[in-house]
Amino acid sequence: MPPIDTISLAQDLIRKPSVTPTDAGALDVLQAALEGLGFACHRLPFGEGETGSDARVDNLYARLGTAAPNFCFAGHTDVVPTGELAGWSVDPFAAEVKDGILYGRGASDMKGAVAAFVSAAAGFLDDRGEGFGGSISLLITGDEEGDALNGTRKVLDWLGERGETLDMCLVGEPTNPEALGDMIKIGRRGSLTGHLTVHGVQGHTAYPHLADNPVHRLVHMLDALTRATLDEGTEHFQPSTLQISTVDVGNPANNVIPATARATFNIRFNDRHSGDSLTGWLRTVFDEAVGPIGQTGGGRYDLDVRVSGESFLSEPGPFVAAVAEAVEAETGRAPELSTSGGTSDARFIQNHCPVAEFGGVGKTMHKIDEQQPVATLEALARIYRGVLDRVFPA
Ligand SMILES: [Zn+2]
Repeated sequence: MPPIDTISLAQDLIRKPSVTPTDAGALDVLQAALEGLGFACHRLPFGEGETGSDARVDNLYARLGTAAPNFCFAGHTDVVPTGELAGWSVDPFAAEVKDGILYGRGASDMKGAVAAFVSAAAGFLDDRGEGFGGSISLLITGDEEGDALNGTRKVLDWLGERGETLDMCLVGEPTNPEALGDMIKIGRRGSLTGHLTVHGVQGHTAYPHLADNPVHRLVHMLDALTRATLDEGTEHFQPSTLQISTVDVGNPANNVIPATARATFNIRFNDRHSGDSLTGWLRTVFDEAVGPIGQTGGGRYDLDVRVSGESFLSEPGPFVAAVAEAVEAETGRAPELSTSGGTSDARFIQNHCPVAEFGGVGKTMHKIDEQQPVATLEALARIYRGVLDRVFPA
């Protein structure tokens, strides 16, 4: 069985400019490497559109072996846009190595980790052959950085229809803030975005009794939101937070009371809440703070709530312990088990099996000059190999 070099494969992947929802041949590169190792590969395109949230997206599910348990590496080959090219000191899709550092869009998030998955599996299979008492699979989506409608969630549905199960899953997002070994993520906070529109009655600022100022009402409502404490944190989670992201009136005139006022806010919430419980709470707070319907009819409001992910936690068990041991064996440090940060596709996988996230160092993800030291990626591949050795003991 040919060994797979983590860095060469990462470079081959970075050289395919797979900005969501475009694949640009990235999954072909990955599939060729996996087929060389004997994986059965299934390409799973979903979605009908050219752009937008239903844009057609390609996905790959690959499995070696048919026995249980089925250990899954999960991740994505899509990347975020480069932003202003002038800001980059390198071509973001050239995958140059300079002074021991691999540069390029996806080096950190997360083509480097996807390459480390494959090289870890190659080394493991070379030593152990195919009779290792289980299966190794990869679930790789091209729709993680976008709306995530036609990616991991649909692949999981497809697996369910085939009666195929995952027994444990390691997601390769760049979980380490500063250095390899910092952090394993065992859950994530949920995210809720609220769009609030307050309706008033337009009028002259000199005749406010003939109008109803929605800006005043909105200010009261937002004040009530920012004064509230959602919770004090829970065993594995930080306190929930609420941030107002924009307030929009768009009124160019200083002598006009506008007819509507809008605001958007985002709540990152822990396991004490759900999207539904928070929506109920928001309505209670707003009903109180908006005040009575005015004589001129103002004071109604609309609240549009989107929950992009509920909070979840994989209670630390044998699988998380195996990942933590493999990390410590390589880095000499016991990683923190954390639920911090944004959402990831682990939110979908946690409905199916125990899931943990561990990947490279995230400090340059989504930034200009995204990079990952060569030594970090090689160590990451050894950690993934260590996880396989612990999940499938000889
Ligand atoms: Zn990512």
